[in-house]
Amino acid sequence: MNQQQPIFILPEGYSRMIGKDAQRSNILAAKQVAETVRTTLGPKGMDKMLVDSTGEIIITNDGVTILEEMGIEHPAAKMLVEVAKTQENEVGDGTTTAVVLAGELLKNAEDLLDKNIHPTVISKGYRLAAERAQEILNRIAENITEQDIGLLKKIASTAMTGKGAETAKEILSELVVRAVIQITERKDKIEIDIDNIKLEKKIGDGIGDSELISGIVLDKERVHSGMPTKVKNAKIVLINSALEIKNTETEAKIQITSPDQLQGFLFQEEKILKDMATKIINSGANVVFCQKGIDDIAQHYLAKNKIYACRRIKKSDIDKLAKATNAKIVTNLDDLSPEDLGKAGLVESVKVKDEEMTYVRDCENPKAVTLLIRGGTEHVIDEAERAVKDAIGDVIAALKDSKVVAGAGSVEIELSKKLKEFSNTLTGREQLAVQSFAESLEIIPKTLAENAGLDPIDILTELKLQHTNNKWAGIDVFEGKIIDAWKAGIIEPLKIKTQAVKSASEVAELILRIDDVIAGEQKPASPVPRTNEEEM
Ligand code: ADP
Ligand code: MG
Repeated sequence: MNQQQPIFILPEGYSRMIGKDAQRSNILAAKQVAETVRTTLGPKGMDKMLVDSTGEIIITNDGVTILEEMGIEHPAAKMLVEVAKTQENEVGDGTTTAVVLAGELLKNAEDLLDKNIHPTVISKGYRLAAERAQEILNRIAENITEQDIGLLKKIASTAMTGKGAETAKEILSELVVRAVIQITERKDKIEIDIDNIKLEKKIGDGIGDSELISGIVLDKERVHSGMPTKVKNAKIVLINSALEIKNTETEAKIQITSPDQLQGFLFQEEKILKDMATKIINSGANVVFCQKGIDDIAQHYLAKNKIYACRRIKKSDIDKLAKATNAKIVTNLDDLSPEDLGKAGLVESVKVKDEEMTYVRDCENPKAVTLLIRGGTEHVIDEAERAVKDAIGDVIAALKDSKVVAGAGSVEIELSKKLKEFSNTLTGREQLAVQSFAESLEIIPKTLAENAGLDPIDILTELKLQHTNNKWAGIDVFEGKIIDAWKAGIIEPLKIKTQAVKSASEVAELILRIDDVIAGEQKPASPVPRTNEEEM
């Protein structure tokens, strides 16, 4: 064939971007994501107002929440959202830091690309730097134990500085630390399951009225108004099956031909239900929490015997109740014995606004607790909850790793300094990549300064100067000067930093290695609004 025919290897409608174009476009998208959340970083960061298609409003400062709610489409940008999610799952805090760092790594990589350094060299250098960074971070970190209550409170308080919970951060820090210590289990090593802290929100009063309950708060009411509203020295049954007769799995059809038969049948039914109640009464219980329904007749007998009962309690709450009250969950009432009962000092019905809730309080050494967050409006409470979650995540991370660092940009500058020293031991182009990595870390103090309206160049110069003899020199964003961040009590778990560096460098390497983007035919955007924030 003489004439060169164009060859199409992709189906119609597919688009393709190759080489530098693909790289630039991906880097640009990732940088935009980082730029979006950058203004929220630190105590002086701003908030974002997100309005979804149904008009629902969220006001937040939380990196991962912003990115999840934005419904980002671009594939490389989505990879940055993943970084935020990983950070959220692994630590619970530091999402903005991780994303901003990833954006800066890519921005600096772009400069290296401009100098004709091959992407694989850059990504190799980045990997080298990231590995060394883990070592350095571990080396400069300080130790912490469960006994360092004051330090733990500072961690919680640092996490909440500048967030919705700011006004009550002293009170909340105290509650967060008490909650975490309470649910810590000391086996071979420390085990802390964040799920054992239940966060319950209730509108009304101020954030400062939030409280820690040594037990579980359920947004359930008593099933029967004849039941007591308060039960002291509660003995609690947890049942995960129904206190009802009809059980869809065994439902049978019964043909009734005479009124007598009907009477007999109803009598029979009532007897079964009464038996159920009797078994509970005989066990010595005075409170019942049932995961399924409770029949009217059973309710009647329970109420008559002054037993407090709630139905349709979530499985997760039943599990928490078991941990808080030390009860065994019962499936078959025939197996119920007094040893299965859990204990609580008080079970009471509390009316908050118009809603009745059940408080299971004063449990003895509960392994699950409830942090009840109060606040004037839904938006305030929601943002306070996000801040409290960050604080809980940080305190847990600090205890699990037993290592902490100072924040306010201090740790990033120290790491950057040490990485630059490391880069001097290397040669060639890799050295440039490690240097770029080191410089990228400066984006954190730089942004903290910018967001506080300070001159980033002045601040960084002074910061670096002080780092010659103080590894914890950081930025006082309120006073606009350099301070010892450790002494100022700006403390964060080491894990925030190791995880942020790890995920940020991983995603930067990944994006740098892409030189070809092949995209399938774009389907017209579906008019259905996103309903589930999980799927993005
Ligand atoms: P992230 O989502 O990354 O946690 P934040 O908005 O919570 O973002 O900001 C965290 C940054 O703010 C960290 O670098 C932390 O050291 C810094 N920071 C927290 N409290 C202070 C403070 N009081 N002064 C200066 N910096 C602070
Ligand atoms: Mg934070």
